[in-house]
Amino acid sequence: MPGSVNDRITLDMKVCKVCLSVFTRPHRVSFEQWDRRFLCSSRCRSTWNRQKRKSYNLKQSTKDRFWKFVHETNDHNQCWEWQGYKSVEGYGRFQIHNRTHTASKVAWTLTHGPVPEGLCVLHRCDNPPCVNPNHLFLGTVKDNVSDMWEKGRAHWQKNALHMAS
Ligand SMILES: [Zn+2]
Ligand SMILES: [Zn+2]
Repeated sequence: MPGSVNDRITLDMKVCKVCLSVFTRPHRVSFEQWDRRFLCSSRCRSTWNRQKRKSYNLKQSTKDRFWKFVHETNDHNQCWEWQGYKSVEGYGRFQIHNRTHTASKVAWTLTHGPVPEGLCVLHRCDNPPCVNPNHLFLGTVKDNVSDMWEKGRAHWQKNALHMAS
């Protein structure tokens, strides 16, 4: 809904996909260019490109194999649950070249590109098997832990730590 001042402010602000800092639209950048912009600076752009080159250049066959495990729906608000192998915590697991990856991370990579170093893919929907890219966002490991504490999911881990010590 255009009109309110708040809407106009948020439309001019984005979160950089590399450094996660909030940046605003410079006046010389047109709205069209702004629509495509997702990095705050040329420094972040070169980091992004470097990671993109480094990232697994997944073959089409791997992509097809991945999405076959996903119960996709046309409704982008709904969770798309992973139908393949899952970890104890319920996260989807997917093998590429004999290495096992978290399905939500692969889903992010296929949709948006590589996950920057030091960041992890988190769920907005708090549903571990979900790989709907619309429900995923990037955060730090610390975000993940505090997010889990807030949602009370870390209880069993706390107990496990107790037993281990
Ligand atoms: Zn940045
Ligand atoms: Zn979801």
